This record gives sequence, C-alpha cells and structure tokens, in this order.
Amino acid sequence: MASRTNGDDGKLDRSLAEQFLDVLGPVDRWHDHEHIGDFGSPARVDMEQLLEPVAKAGPVSRLGPLEKVHAFWFAGMSCDGCSVAVTGAEKPSLEDLLMGAHPGLPRIVLHHPVLDLEGGPNFLRAHERAIKGELDAPYVIILEGSITDENKAMETGGFWASNGEEPWGKDGVERAVTANEWVARLAPGAAASIAIGTCATWGGIPSAQGNPTGAMSLMDFLGKDYRSTFGVPVVNVPGCPPIGDNFNETVAAILYFLQGFGPLPEFDELGRPAWLFGETVHRHCVRGAYYEEGAYAEEFGDPECLVEIGCWGPVVNCNITSRGAINHVGGCMNVGGACIGCTMPGFPDKFTPFHKTPPGSRVSTTASRLLGSVIKPLRMYSNEHLNREVRWDIHGDVPSGWASEKSEPGALRGAGHKLYDKLRRTTDTGRQDNETWGKRTEWTQARDPELEPQLPRGGELPEEREVSSQEPG
Ligand code: SF4
Ligand code: SF4
Repeated sequence: MASRTNGDDGKLDRSLAEQFLDVLGPVDRWHDHEHIGDFGSPARVDMEQLLEPVAKAGPVSRLGPLEKVHAFWFAGMSCDGCSVAVTGAEKPSLEDLLMGAHPGLPRIVLHHPVLDLEGGPNFLRAHERAIKGELDAPYVIILEGSITDENKAMETGGFWASNGEEPWGKDGVERAVTANEWVARLAPGAAASIAIGTCATWGGIPSAQGNPTGAMSLMDFLGKDYRSTFGVPVVNVPGCPPIGDNFNETVAAILYFLQGFGPLPEFDELGRPAWLFGETVHRHCVRGAYYEEGAYAEEFGDPECLVEIGCWGPVVNCNITSRGAINHVGGCMNVGGACIGCTMPGFPDKFTPFHKTPPGSRVSTTASRLLGSVIKPLRMYSNEHLNREVRWDIHGDVPSGWASEKSEPGALRGAGHKLYDKLRRTTDTGRQDNETWGKRTEWTQARDPELEPQLPRGGELPEEREVSSQEPG
C-alpha cells in the first residue's frame, strides 16, 4: 500500500487492495474446526444456528429467490460508534433485518465481532467459507472505520487494526488478520461492499493531518474500478456516527435490488444514497427562519441560528435535522449543536478550527441581517394582527384573563391592521362584499348596546332574538 502510483501516467493500475494481496500472497490453511469443536458461545451454537429456526420463512411466504444474505462486518480504525448507531435504528431495525421480518427482503446473517455470540475461530468459520467459495448464500461486506497503511505497520512487525487470527503465518502459525486483509480477500466476491461512517467512507478523523497510519477510505483502498459481483461500486453511508436509519434503510434498498424486486436505488457520484444526502442540512434546519431574519446565537444554549458559533450546515450534505438521530428524536441543531461537517469528504481538516464562524458565511449573514431588520418588524406587526379574533377588533378588547397586561393596538397600528386586511382581501376573488368588520353586529349589540349598530348588507337590522347563554357576548 505504500506505493500510490504504479503507471507511467501516475495513475493506479492496480488498486491498493490488490497490491496489498500481492505482498501477502494467497492463503490455503484453515482452522481445524473438528478439533476446535463447538465451543465459542455458552449456548454451544453460533448466531446463525440460534436464529435460523425462528427467522427462516417458509417457501410460500418468502417472496424472492434469496432466502438469506450473509453480512461480514469489519472494523478498521474505528470507535465502534457506527455499530452503536445501527443497533439503535428503527426503520428498519436491526432485529427486523436479522429475523427477515420485511416481506420480500432476505434475512441477514450478520457476522459482527461485537454482536455475535461466538468468538475466536468459531466466529471466523463463515469468513473462511466465504474465501473458499463454500458459503451457502451471497454475502456483502461492511466496513466500519478507516483502512490503514498496514505495510507501514508490518515494517516493524505490527499491525494497526486486526480482526481475529488465522493460521496464515509461516508454517501455519496463527497471525493477526487485519481489516484490510479481510476486505481485500472478500470484496471481489461480495454482492456489495458498503462503507459505514465517515472513517470508512472518506477516511474521517483517523486520516486527519498528522496521523501516522496513512488512514484512508474503503473507496481509496478498493479503487475506482472496483465493482461487486452484482456490478455495484462501493456504497457510502457517511456520518460520525451515521444515522442508524440511514444505514439500515440503504441496506434494505440494496437487498431489494439483489432480490430482483427493483432497480439499483439512486446513488450520487460519490456513492451516497442520493435520496438521503441530496440536500444540505441547512435546508431542513429548525433554526433556518432565524438565519433568514438575521438572528444569530452568540453562545451555545441560545435558540437562534448557530452559524456564527461555527455551524457549517448551509454547505453540508446531511439529513439529520429532518430525520433526527434515533427514531426522529435529537440530531445536532435540533438539540443545540452546530454542524461541524462530519458527513463530508473534507471532514475534519477542512472544517477546523471547530466552532468558529465559517468564513464563507459572512456574505449571507450580512445580507440576512439587513433584510431581517426590515422583514422582522413587519412580521411581528402582522403576527400581532393575526393573533386577534375579528370579534376582539370589533370590541376593542381581548377577553382573556391572561391578557390583563396586554394593551390594545393604538390608532396607528389599528389602521395598519385594517390596511393589511384590505390588502389581503384584494386577492380574494370569491369574496362577498360584506363589511369586513361587521360580521357579528347582533352580538356586538348584545354586548354593548351603546355601540353604533353596523348594518348588514341591505341596510336592515337582523331579527331580534334572545342571546343564548352558549353564545359569547
Ligand atoms: S443552525 Fe446551521 S443549519 Fe441551522 S439555520 Fe443556522 S446555519 Fe443553517
Ligand atoms: S449536522 Fe453536521 S455535524 Fe451533525 S450529523 Fe450532520 S454533518 Fe454531522
């Protein structure tokens, strides 16, 4: 992996993954599972054996050709936050995917180093079958965390991110197998290769300036020409951590495709699900109206737009303000956090220093402040008018015990409100030519006999009648 170019034109002829395998060579020795026995979990079964009797659907209820798909989860330079996010997903939940609870979706047999029951060689049994081509169903690979330059670590006999051991050392000695190696060996035969979280999609925090590991993304490692056995390039679901629902929904969409129920869902030019990352997070932000009115928070905890204390939302592709963090709850600006661009390929280096005003925002915040100085008072003015019943305008009084301190609009503001109402009615093509302010004159009289009667159309007073105790007045 140390060599980043190997063609005369400076481009990679072989991907870094292929070059890594050139160094490691093929493998042909495996754990002796007969000798190891079924030890590995207290239940003496592996995860698949445990779930299969309850998860397996009958041939009638299973709609597509695939009954199950294996999913191999690997961890490079990661904090495991992506695993936590996925276990919190709701639509669909991880449990539903494992149980094959969605009609038409094959169930997922997940091989996850933290979530599986078994450990050690028993956990790696399915991995070995996949390399040997003996697995009983198609598989996908999922990478959490970034790929590292393991060649560099090997120079001193070490490794950066190991995911178990195999007897692939000299003379069958067990040696650490890195996330890189699993990915390099399994990606060519995978039905899909999916990167979860910003470390796996773009390198993320482990690849920040000054890191010693040479950290990079799954896409960097597998290269531009990589295609899965179903012809799919690397799929990227970024976020630090990603929204669990974003990931599970994407997996479900890919499974529908593998099942033959639909076309490949739309991905953008960087392999992100286009329907999830096509908009900036600013466009759906709960604080967007403050930005428009030029009202900005000065410190965390203020309710206004957070741009001047470091929010990059207007230029960041993310859907957390509309989707929430878990089950439509939480999510950065919804709970007071400024966007630091964690879903973006430029994260983190292009967003530092965090929590300082992004330089590009000066133009728009200055324009919004100017516009807001006019728009905001006008809106407050209309808001005051719309917060009054027509009856209260007639009576000149708000009959609310809560409003004892609230003064009536003065002559100027009252005239303004009437003008506003006249303007509104100019576009009302279906209007009757009623007196705008005289809809309920009989009740006005009942309340205030001194008040000058306002005649309805035709000039006659309505028939005298008793005012019911149910009626206001
Ligand atoms: S808090 Fe951020 S995303 Fe929300 S309106 Fe302000 S700049 Fe936009
Ligand atoms: S709003 Fe910004 S910081 Fe929050 S998840 Fe989205 S990209 Fe990351």
